[in-house]
Amino acid sequence: MSKAKYIFVTGGVASSLGKGIISASLGKLLQARGLRVTIQKFDPYINIDPGTLNPYEHGECYVTDDGAETDLDLGHYERFLNISTSQDNNVTTGRIYYNVIQAEREGKFLGKTVQVVPHITDEIKNNIFKLGNTDKYDIVITEIGGCVGDIESLPFIEAVRQAKLEVGPSRCISIHLTLVPYIKTAGELKTKPTQHSVKELQEAGIQPDILVCRSEHPVTLDIRKKLALFCNVPYNSVIEALDAETIYDVPILMRKEKLDERVLAKFKMSYKKQPKIDQWKEFLGRLKNPTSEVNIGLVGKYVELKDAYKSIAESFTHAGAENECHVNVNWIHAEDIDSKNVHKMLDNLDGILVAPGFGERGIDGKLEAVRFARENKIPFLGICLGLQCAVIEFARNVLKLKGANSTEMDPKSKHPVIDIMEDQKNLKEMGGTMRLGAYDCTIKKGTKASHIYNHSKISERHRHRYEFNGKYLQAFEEAGMIASGTNPDTNLVEIMEIPDHPWFVGTQFHPELKSTVDNPHPLFVKFIKAAIVNKKDTE
Ligand code: GLN
Repeated sequence: MSKAKYIFVTGGVASSLGKGIISASLGKLLQARGLRVTIQKFDPYINIDPGTLNPYEHGECYVTDDGAETDLDLGHYERFLNISTSQDNNVTTGRIYYNVIQAEREGKFLGKTVQVVPHITDEIKNNIFKLGNTDKYDIVITEIGGCVGDIESLPFIEAVRQAKLEVGPSRCISIHLTLVPYIKTAGELKTKPTQHSVKELQEAGIQPDILVCRSEHPVTLDIRKKLALFCNVPYNSVIEALDAETIYDVPILMRKEKLDERVLAKFKMSYKKQPKIDQWKEFLGRLKNPTSEVNIGLVGKYVELKDAYKSIAESFTHAGAENECHVNVNWIHAEDIDSKNVHKMLDNLDGILVAPGFGERGIDGKLEAVRFARENKIPFLGICLGLQCAVIEFARNVLKLKGANSTEMDPKSKHPVIDIMEDQKNLKEMGGTMRLGAYDCTIKKGTKASHIYNHSKISERHRHRYEFNGKYLQAFEEAGMIASGTNPDTNLVEIMEIPDHPWFVGTQFHPELKSTVDNPHPLFVKFIKAAIVNKKDTE
């Protein structure tokens, strides 16, 4: 029988309070004390996974090694804890119902009426305990998406109540993240919304053990005592979470507030040892004391919503810190770029990244951005669709293949330099059917890629349906764009680069999904390094 301990994190008063960051920060602190920690997220929506969601709806879709399309909070968990997550770390209402309905069709309920309680709640609990039962973890943190009181999160809250009862208080605690708003005209912090939100939780049978209070102003002792009294928690379990300068400050702030110590005390675990967070602090030191600065253009089509490129933005933060360089990310809407204004729009940049994406919108602007970077020798990183754009641009402007395109944009292209993968051709379902997750890649010796990675075999994560069309490879290589990384089993092109350019690399995979605070991704680190050099050269 597993001895894993469970921490449930719920949210109240408002959404977007940062449950993911609080969970990841607590996870980091517990991990820093030598515990084996994982974090999972339950999302109360009915989509089976966020893979089919427009990024404007829900931000980036984060892909795990095992090919699960998941919520972007899993990215925070991986970046903070330097762990790999999986499908088991993200479960939606849709998936819960799907599993239950499938079992019903298979006759597994033996003629019983299938109901929210106990069948849906049992399935939720199965998914809570699945990670704990592996014996791989001492602590499983479960973040419940949405707010307490939402109709759609009710079954999850009920499952948490049951789980607490089954496992017992020595192995199960709940943390409620809430907002303590500041009312300017009164000059006061207000506790009432939190009182109501906790009441709602109590009505559902859950007494929170710890309150984490998001606030713009310090939560005074008086306020803590008031919250403690009305919410039925000891006042030292009322934790202040002030707005932070960067999300990476939050573990340190939580440490100061002793969130980890409160949790360990509730679990009756000894906590004499201080958490080992030196590496984290060094990272913060480098992040906050840069010795240089670069401007990077991120050319994409969802730039209005920064969450759509969350992992890329965070990878720049890690790579910037590694280089002691402040990275200004200029968010550039691909649709705003055309052949006439490209100079004006991109001239101040030290490096250009063309982002992943789907569909035709913004492609012309992306092709202009690639051309500008290639011709003006500006460091360039193309990710997934960004690589595909680099290939199309090279085909049209260097190889002079008129009408060269991806069959995603032009199914009848005369020169389909990017084409649909064979096994994608006859798929009817859209959800979960792309080439997803980790695949190996062999790197050619002597190339920029081999210099960047310093390894000949790597593994990176994917999310695409189209690929470089191998029929054109010879022509590309003869003209100066080479395949420096390929899949060892299928020969699919994974990395392309232009050796006769200071730094021009495109990847079919998504390096941004593997950059963490402890392990900044080498492609981003070297890209920023190249941007620093480029800036010096042009100054
Ligand atoms: N739309 C392209 C494909 O499916 C690129 C996908 C991406 O950028 N993630 O291959």
